[in-house]
Amino acid sequence: MARLSLTQRSQLVMGAVAAVAISGAMAIPWFQIRDSSVAQQLQSMRDFSKVWGKNPDISIDQFRFVKGSDAKAAGGDQFLSSAFDEFAASPDIFDRYELQQSGDAFVSRYVRALRGNQAELVTTGQAISLEVPDAAWRKLPLTGVISMQRSADATARLIWQDQIYILIGGGLAWIGMIFAVRLFVVRGYLRAVRRLRDVANRVRAGDLSSRSQLRTGDELEELGTSFNSMVATLNGSQKQLQSMNESLDFKLVQLSEANVGLFESNRLKSEFLANVSHELRTPLNSVIGFAELLAELARKDSDADPKRIRYIEHILKSGRGLLEMINELLDMAKIEAGRMELSVSNSSIIDLLEGICAIMRPQADLKKITLEIHRPDGLPTVETDPGKLQQILYNFVSNAIKFSPEGSCVIVRADVWSVDGAPGLRLAVVDRGPGIPLDMQQTIFEKFRQVDASHTKSHGGTGLGLAICRELSAMLGAKLGIESNSKGSSFWVEMPLDFRAKKLPPLMVDRAG
Ligand code: ADP
Repeated sequence: MARLSLTQRSQLVMGAVAAVAISGAMAIPWFQIRDSSVAQQLQSMRDFSKVWGKNPDISIDQFRFVKGSDAKAAGGDQFLSSAFDEFAASPDIFDRYELQQSGDAFVSRYVRALRGNQAELVTTGQAISLEVPDAAWRKLPLTGVISMQRSADATARLIWQDQIYILIGGGLAWIGMIFAVRLFVVRGYLRAVRRLRDVANRVRAGDLSSRSQLRTGDELEELGTSFNSMVATLNGSQKQLQSMNESLDFKLVQLSEANVGLFESNRLKSEFLANVSHELRTPLNSVIGFAELLAELARKDSDADPKRIRYIEHILKSGRGLLEMINELLDMAKIEAGRMELSVSNSSIIDLLEGICAIMRPQADLKKITLEIHRPDGLPTVETDPGKLQQILYNFVSNAIKFSPEGSCVIVRADVWSVDGAPGLRLAVVDRGPGIPLDMQQTIFEKFRQVDASHTKSHGGTGLGLAICRELSAMLGAKLGIESNSKGSSFWVEMPLDFRAKKLPPLMVDRAG
């Protein structure tokens, strides 16, 4: 069932209430009319009986006398026999009236008690008094009754007429009441509610200048005033929000401008670093080359001052250290400037590992460290950039030798591995060094991070090696990680056999295209 509107509901309720109230009010005259007509009939019957008592010769409709003994068996006349019983049981009652209906006809029936010699007198045609009886009469024995019967069609018709008038009057009152309710509730209150609803709808549609103009001087006006102040508050907050939004937009523009500036200066810095490092490398290489030459000559010269050889070796060591640092800075600058390029080829991992060990062995020998390669037979070749992979492993082995105690062993392991469900390799460099505390195991892969600042002094280094390894491994589609405890560390790199450069999604989509 469709939901009823407030107007319909109030009309329905008011209509029902009015109908109940008017029916209640109509019930009183409805029954009153009947009672008073009956009382009127009784009185006229009494009057007739009095006239007849004074002159029994007058003929009155359906008049008859019934003797006491005969009244009980009065031809099955129920009204007569029950009236007789009533008179016999209670002497205070001396007559009885009833309006009876048989078929379409209405009949007035009246019975009057006769006591003492009254029955005798009636039989002999003598006059009797049928006024309201006194107490002495009531004590006399019941000797008979007189019964009167008259047509009461006119009375019944009058009663019906009056009842129809009452019905018409009630109906008119009901209709009038409905009109009055409609006028007062619908025109007065519901119209005000509708106006308030219209204002609310306009506000909802965004017109915050809309206000309720209700002047009913009652709760509805108060509701309108509260609504107005609510809209005013809403308006204020919206304006505040708007200005905050504007300033946020402005800040966003400033921020993005600053960001573009930062990005640009970072790119310039990286470019500058790459250029400067490159420019530094050339003279440094020649310094190292000439120092190597001088060292060679000094070693060949049997008269050479040992101090001279030591100084030259110092120059060489410092020069090589400096070159390594510059190389790292150059690599990082290249990566950041996006100028690091890959050269992918089918590479033999065994050759690569043996090459690294050959390069690193002299350095390991200085600390009496043994370098071992552990690998299964038949290692597959890998599609990768061998130079970048070598650089990663070189950094791992170099650190392992740097941090391992003298006389220990550094193992380079190669295992067939599954990388994200695809066939791959895992290469790990395991040492017996001091290990890396758990809370530093991720930080050491960040730029310029070292476990302890004192490392720089004791072991040298820039803290860039592992950061470069991380960037390079990402470029190779490989994963990089560490397992470490106080007994040593294992740095590993896992890579798929088949390298495919991942294309990064563009930062901005060109919608126009
Ligand atoms: P660098 O060696 O130039 O300082 P790295 O990025 O290669 O920079 O290493 C960062 C730091 O991680 C090192 O300074 C050192 O503290 C720690 N580290 C790296 N490898 C090892 C290792 N095998 N054993 C112990 N500590 C290590």
